[in-house]
Amino acid sequence: MNPMYDCVIIGAGPAGLSSALYFGRAKVNVALIEKSAPGGKVITTSVVENYPGVLKTTGADLALVMLQQIKEFKIPTYYTEVLEVIKNDDYFIVKTASEELTAKFVLSATGTINRTLNVPGEMKFMSRGISYCAICDGKLYENKEVLVIGGGNSAFEESLYLAKLCKKVTLIHRTDQYRAQSILVEKVKNTPNIELIPHTTVTSFNGTNRLESVNLKTNEETRELKVDGAFIYIGYLPATAFLKDLNVLNEAGFIEVDGNYQTKVEGLYGVGDCINHPVKQIATAVGDAVCATNIIIKKL
Ligand code: NAP
Repeated sequence: MNPMYDCVIIGAGPAGLSSALYFGRAKVNVALIEKSAPGGKVITTSVVENYPGVLKTTGADLALVMLQQIKEFKIPTYYTEVLEVIKNDDYFIVKTASEELTAKFVLSATGTINRTLNVPGEMKFMSRGISYCAICDGKLYENKEVLVIGGGNSAFEESLYLAKLCKKVTLIHRTDQYRAQSILVEKVKNTPNIELIPHTTVTSFNGTNRLESVNLKTNEETRELKVDGAFIYIGYLPATAFLKDLNVLNEAGFIEVDGNYQTKVEGLYGVGDCINHPVKQIATAVGDAVCATNIIIKKL
């Protein structure tokens, strides 16, 4: 017999952990499913300084505190990948790579996965010079020269982090319009060992066993730049493939929810970076989760 829960939370990032905290305190029979490490994408964030109430911390430390906060509730946690969610008349079946759970409510807090550039050499040099995580791999490039690609908050924040370790950071972006907050753009411009180059794209990653150089195209001119490492920060794609048959995703794959965070499938909720919300912050993910969880608790 599959375990039956009141609610299954999918994803243990800030949204999923916040939901677990509120369900735990309300003594709801809840389970948590996480594909990799608890903490989600936030553990790859070097510095968090815009989470209200916390002066400055690392993403990993923030995630650790969130995890410690739910420890006392002893919530059953399954470390496996959710493959599909099926809605029966009045309950859900959550099919994972290792087991099936049943639940009255499902809350998806699955966040996003890295978008890739899809240029020659990217897959070949993955983890051999190419990384999506400065906090994980930055140390490998101490006193070396790295390239960062992207124009959003992640690219700018992680360039500032890498500039403290590396001899030089070249930050390229395909236009001169940055999505990064202006305070970050200013900081980057004022950091002597970061060179910010607009209107530039990578056309190939080159090397033999490891990444040795990249071909950069600026306007119509192409040149080779020697680099020891490259960090790609060009946004994220929603981690929602397991919901594709429920007709709750928009064209880009984000979960469409109403003002109460419920999808058009009764009992299926979405919160955090995986929903069709324009603002993707730790604080908004936590806020979504707290609202949705309390709405579900009332229904239970
Ligand atoms: P993002 O804001 O979606 O920015 C992605 C960047 O990559 C954009 O500059 C985009 O350029 C560029 N890009 C996309 N596809 C590309 C391609 N194929 N080739 C070259 N460049 C490409 O992603 P993010 O910086 O990872 O942030 C994701 C979300 O998390 C955002 O909502 C962000 O605000 C949030 N976040 C917040 C913080 C913070 O508040 N401290 C920190 C990190 C992330 P275009 O602009 O030209 O499309």
